[in-house]
Amino acid sequence: MKYFIHTYGCQMNIHDSEKIAGVLESLGYTATSARDSADIVVFNTCCIRETAEQKIYGHIGELKKIKRNKPDMIVVVCGCMSQQDGALDKIKESYPFVDIILGTSNLNMLRDAVVAAQQKKRLYNVDFINYCEEDFYQARTSFPNAWVNINYGCNNFCTYCIVPYVRGRERSRPLKNILNEVKSLLEEGYKEITLLGQNVNSYGHDLQNGETFALLLNEIGQLNYKFRLRFMTSHPKDLSKEVIDVVAKYPNICNNIHLPVQSGSTEILRRMNRRYTRENYLDLIKMIRAKIPDAGITTDIMVGFPGETEQDFLDTLDLVRQAKYSSAFCFIYSRRKGTPAYSMENQITYAVKRDRITRLLACQNEVTKEISQTMIGQRYEVLVEGPNTHYVNTMCGRTESGRLVNFKCDESMIGQFVTVEIELAKSATLWGKIILGD
Ligand code: SF4
Repeated sequence: MKYFIHTYGCQMNIHDSEKIAGVLESLGYTATSARDSADIVVFNTCCIRETAEQKIYGHIGELKKIKRNKPDMIVVVCGCMSQQDGALDKIKESYPFVDIILGTSNLNMLRDAVVAAQQKKRLYNVDFINYCEEDFYQARTSFPNAWVNINYGCNNFCTYCIVPYVRGRERSRPLKNILNEVKSLLEEGYKEITLLGQNVNSYGHDLQNGETFALLLNEIGQLNYKFRLRFMTSHPKDLSKEVIDVVAKYPNICNNIHLPVQSGSTEILRRMNRRYTRENYLDLIKMIRAKIPDAGITTDIMVGFPGETEQDFLDTLDLVRQAKYSSAFCFIYSRRKGTPAYSMENQITYAVKRDRITRLLACQNEVTKEISQTMIGQRYEVLVEGPNTHYVNTMCGRTESGRLVNFKCDESMIGQFVTVEIELAKSATLWGKIILGD
C-alpha cells in the first residue's frame, strides 16, 4: 500500500507531514512519488493566500476522475485550509469523494480515520483537540535537520494573518518533553535541530510555571553533542534580552536570527497590529549586533499593505539598509478573507505593489551582495545538508549564520561538518571549496 502527501505552505506543515507519514507508515503504507497510483493521497493544506488555496482546490479536484476508476483510493484533506470557517461544508459539497477531513489540531485522529476509511466509513472533523506530540512516530525527511515543535497556535492577531483563526490560541509543550525529544534526536545522529513555533519567543507564557524560551534554549545549549540549534519564528515584540544573551552564550545555538519586520513604517506596523515601532525594532537589531557581532539577521517584509504611502515604503527601504539583513523574504500583501485587513480602506493597486516589490528586492540584493563580498576568502564551518540538484557532485549547506553555500563533494558527506572557504558570491548564494585537514 502506497501513500502520497501533497504538502503546501510553511515549515510547520512540512513537519506535520512527517507526523502524517509516521501514522501511515505505522499502518503499513510506504511513500510513493506517483500520486495517481497511490492508495492514499493526503492534501496537507495552507490558506495563507487565497491564490494558494484556489490552487489546492484545483489539485483536489484532479482526483475526482482518478477516484472514479480507483474507488478504494482514500483521499484526505487536512491542515489550515480545512480549518477555516465554512471550508468543511465546501469540501463535503464540492468534493464528495474526499474520505477524511481533519483540521490543524486533531491529527491524532488520523490513524482511526484511515482504518475507518478502509471500511468505507468517512470521517469529517475539524474540532480543536490538542493532540500530544508524544503520540506520534514521525517519519522524518529532512536529515541532518530535525524539526521540533515547541508551541502551536498564535495569540497575536496581526491584521493581515489568518493563522490565529486556523491554528488556534497559543499552546506550549512542557519543557521536559521538548528536551527529551531533542536528546533522542541527537542520540539518533541528527546534527541540526530547528525549534518551531508561530512565535517561539512567547514559548511558556501559557504554562505559567516559569518555563520560558530563554530557559529552554539554555537547557538545550548545555547538551554535550556536536550539533546546531536554530529556531523560527521570532516575533520582535517578544524577543527578550535574555534570549539574545543565551544565543550569544552557547556556540551550538546558531547566530542566525529570523526577525520578521513586515514594514519599516510605525504607522503601517500599528495598522498591522504588530505592537512594536520602527524604533523598537531598530533598537533590537542594535542589541543583537552588540551582543552577537557576527549574527546573520534575516526577515520577512511585505509591501502594499492597505494605506501604505510612498513615504511608508521609503521608510521600509531605509530600515532594510540600516538593519543589514543577510537575506529577506519579500512579498506583496494579498487580501485574505476573514482577516481585518481584508476590509481596510485604501487597498493598494497591483501596479504600485509591483513597483514597490521590485525596488525592495533591488535594495535587499544590494545589501546581501555587500555582505557576501566581505565573506570571500573567509572560512566557515558548514553542515553538509544535501545535494544541489542543478549541479553534478555539488552539495549545499549553511554557515552558522544561515548563509547557503554550494561546494563540491559527494553525498556520503551529508550530515558532516566541514570547513569551506568562500570563493565566489552570486548575490544570495555563495560558492566555495572544502578545506581538508583544517
Ligand atoms: S505573529 Fe502575526 S503573522 Fe505570525 S502567525 Fe501570529 S498573527 Fe500571523
